[in-house]
Amino acid sequence: MNIQMLDLRGQYRNIKEEVDRAVASVIEEAHFINGSEVDKFASELGLYLDSKHVIPCANGTDALQIALMSLELKPGDEVILPAFTYAATAEVVALLGLVPVLADVSARNFNINPGEIEKVVSEKTRAIMPVHLFGQSASMEPLLEISSKYGLKVIEDNAQAIGAEYSFSGGETKFCGTIGDIGCTSFFPSKNLGCYGDGGAIFSSNPYLGERLRMIANHGQKEKYRHDIVGCNSRLDTIQAAILRIKLANLDKYTAARQQAASVYRELLADVEEITLPYEESYSTHVYHQFTIRCSDRDGLKNHLASKGVPSMVYYPHPIEAQPAFRDIVVKRSSTEVAVKLAKEVLSLPMHTELKYEEQKFIAETIKEFISEKR
Ligand SMILES: *Cc1c(COP(=O)(O)O)cnc(C)c1O
Repeated sequence: MNIQMLDLRGQYRNIKEEVDRAVASVIEEAHFINGSEVDKFASELGLYLDSKHVIPCANGTDALQIALMSLELKPGDEVILPAFTYAATAEVVALLGLVPVLADVSARNFNINPGEIEKVVSEKTRAIMPVHLFGQSASMEPLLEISSKYGLKVIEDNAQAIGAEYSFSGGETKFCGTIGDIGCTSFFPSKNLGCYGDGGAIFSSNPYLGERLRMIANHGQKEKYRHDIVGCNSRLDTIQAAILRIKLANLDKYTAARQQAASVYRELLADVEEITLPYEESYSTHVYHQFTIRCSDRDGLKNHLASKGVPSMVYYPHPIEAQPAFRDIVVKRSSTEVAVKLAKEVLSLPMHTELKYEEQKFIAETIKEFISEKR
């Protein structure tokens, strides 16, 4: 059995003809930057997510940076983010001379804990950046209550949860990335909606922010050679947009395949007390960017899996505060003990659209073998 963490080649095989044709046609037209596929993809994604302004850009990290740039913040202004996330979330804050302030996360769903946000809000706080980690929405309704109480902007890092839907207590639902003031996503190949290179997008329903975001991604210009604000150069290229249109048309199918694989894992691992399965919150659908379990002997389990040819990954082995780059920059006003504990216990199992039942059965048996040897 050749089990893979991620199987992009298998996925490609099923859409090969369509993709090859689309790529060849972009090359034939030779409109590699800002070709018509880029606008078409942006409007299809806007329709899918019900988002008015969709600004494609070069990658997810740029999306976060441009989002922050659009808010007209001053150096020293504070931005609250989860203590357990991918480094990019903290990096863009630091890069712009803003202060990343850590809030602890929930051990149940790995996302920023709204109860922890209020503990770290200060006079200087201007924004909150929730991350919908591993494919499930952060607890947005309580977070939005805090943001409006303190007049803070909300930028969602939705690199991992495209297609996940949040349910408000009144029954209304919204897609992750369209709940706060600005949403950001990544089309990095391994993401749920991934291209064959780098890509990203920014979402907003606010026309003022929509226009600013578009200008910033395009050297601060609205009109060619007239630069009104300091921007950057961040574009999704036409070939990637053409590929993404095909992948977007398949996104619901891909999400269903991930959810199916997750329920198989649940069934197979239900009676293993020593591991904690990912919790499905009632307020969000879960699109399973990762299937992340917790185990007190995480490293032992990972090594055992590897010895049997089962790949697994640790997302993420260090909380933000332990990273040398951020150690002296981040502000910690309250305990981040959950983030520190999660970094020691999390293990992501193979999860992709092509995962087979027999592979999952072997993975589950290998996990159970490790647990029973330890007992
Ligand atoms: C992937 C990712 C990013 C960065 O996206 P890139 O396209 O690689 O720049 C940011 N935040 C999170 C949570 C991610 O998973």
